[in-house]
Amino acid sequence: MSLLVVGSLALDTIETPFGKVDDALGGSATYISTASSYFASPVNLVGVVGGDFPKSGIDFLQSRNIGTDGIETVADGKTFRWGGRYHYDLNVRDTLFTDLNVFKEFDPKIPAAYTTSKYVCLGNIDPVLQRRVLEQIERPKLVVGDTMNFWIEGKRDELLKTIALLDVLIINDSEARLLAGEANLFRAAKKILALGVNILIIKKGEHGALLITGSTVFSAPAYPLENIFDPTGAGDTFAGGFIGYLAKTDDISVENLKKAVIYGSTMASFCVEQFSLDALRDLTYLRIQDRYREFRALSNFEE
Ligand code: AMP
Repeated sequence: MSLLVVGSLALDTIETPFGKVDDALGGSATYISTASSYFASPVNLVGVVGGDFPKSGIDFLQSRNIGTDGIETVADGKTFRWGGRYHYDLNVRDTLFTDLNVFKEFDPKIPAAYTTSKYVCLGNIDPVLQRRVLEQIERPKLVVGDTMNFWIEGKRDELLKTIALLDVLIINDSEARLLAGEANLFRAAKKILALGVNILIIKKGEHGALLITGSTVFSAPAYPLENIFDPTGAGDTFAGGFIGYLAKTDDISVENLKKAVIYGSTMASFCVEQFSLDALRDLTYLRIQDRYREFRALSNFEE
């Protein structure tokens, strides 16, 4: 089934205890579309870049068969840039800067061929832009949205309007607490579901993920990774694996959503093993399946 991904395309500056990279390929839409391209087809991306965005970035997306007709280039503009620094505890990250640049003036135009996409993933961007995308789409089967503290703190009212239009909200634990104003995750989840979203996924970094609906709580285990180099994009990669698997199977039953959470976690576990997008460049479906099975074995036990 067709999947439309909208979000940021970025040049990231990342510092971890293990090293630093400048202007690495990043952005929510880049990670989501790359991860989902291992499952779904076609995957089409809508976003904006400046004249400084490297051709190698577009070439890479195309090498993954991602449709790039919806990427607008503002020749005299600068690409969105984000800088982050991780602490020794890699679950803790400081945002060093967020330069919206071409995103300040961006007005997403969904190419006609993408307006009938059955699956839509609204990556982390301004919630006003996320809504403008939805206005142009005809009856998708599932809309998944992601956001982060930058928008929860900076555009809360707009974000609440967007959340009410989503089928699935994916958010990390600290953002769920911030959004709900509630320290306990399960109470926070109840408050967030009351905002009008049917399914909530709370990512807990290297500690796994929770799928919560009005009647279900499912907990995905954490994968015991010994080499975590760069957590950047793990959340977006999770979202890409999750919606990519749903679009591939075209099944949004709760049982299949649980499998999709494990595929999301599987893809995120690969993402963090190398800097930037590097670990997602040449995965194979076989390796993904192997790790998916390892994930299942982690919480399998006899009655
Ligand atoms: P994650 O580690 O999954 O939270 O996502 C990191 C990616 O999100 C980076 O590649 C950034 O370029 C991108 N990003 C960070 N802040 C924002 C923002 N405010 N809007 C859109 N994308 C962002």
